[in-house]
Amino acid sequence: MDASEVAEAIRILETDLPRDIEERLRVCLSGEEGNSREALKVIIENIGYARQRRLPMCQDTGTLVFFVKCAGSQDRVLDTIREGISLATREVPLRPNTVNPFTRENEGRNLGRNNPIVHFVEEGCEGGKVTMQIMAKGAGSENVSRSFMLEPDRGVGGIKECVIETVADAGGKPCPPIIVGLGVGGSLEWAAYLAKKALLRPLDRRTEDPTAAQLEDELLPEINSLGIGPMGMGGRATALGVRVEWAHCHTASLPVSVSVQCWALRRVSAVWDSSGFRILR
Ligand code: SF4
Repeated sequence: MDASEVAEAIRILETDLPRDIEERLRVCLSGEEGNSREALKVIIENIGYARQRRLPMCQDTGTLVFFVKCAGSQDRVLDTIREGISLATREVPLRPNTVNPFTRENEGRNLGRNNPIVHFVEEGCEGGKVTMQIMAKGAGSENVSRSFMLEPDRGVGGIKECVIETVADAGGKPCPPIIVGLGVGGSLEWAAYLAKKALLRPLDRRTEDPTAAQLEDELLPEINSLGIGPMGMGGRATALGVRVEWAHCHTASLPVSVSVQCWALRRVSAVWDSSGFRILR
């Protein structure tokens, strides 16, 4: 595993939108008219140009978030990720988005204290193999995401109210059509982690968990009935999908986190094993 391979994975992430998202956008086109249809057409054209010219699909190349499985040294993997980000910032290029939160100073490399954001996932580690899922999360959608600590008796109705309130208040700011990642249970930080992890599941892959599936099926039409539409122009396609992950939690708590994701759901999987480096789409 070397930095140039991490940089190549980031280039693909930033320039080649996953097909499941693009297909869902194309399906939505037939349901829209007027300005909302034009907005969707521009988004789809832009996806094609970015792929063809190997250029980022949005000027906000996001905050990079890594979910890594590895059995070996985490320090070595972290060092390679940092070098890969530095290289990708110069070569893709990525907008230098990473700043000191207090002084707003920017080193220009998309690196900093406790950054990049790397989650080392314990399950599924095998021998010398490293697998990495990478997301680029834009600020427009991250800034309208929210976490809640509900009274447990608010139940499923309360969880749904959190989602609808978050999406309605966000309006056109997160560049709809959005994808909603919903994390329920665990703790404050675990619900937020699950909400983001939920966004990794493709829109054409149904969850095997019946509780999550029911919430996903019920929330999508409710969100779309808000009428926010593509880029906030009004219309049917406010969301392309809802993704739910949940965990058991303390009896006195009901943590809920809503990760709002713009249409540019940039995610990629990279693998390093005995046959070398490859990208999985
Ligand atoms: S919300 Fe997404 S599509 Fe909109 S500017 Fe940010 S990264 Fe780009």
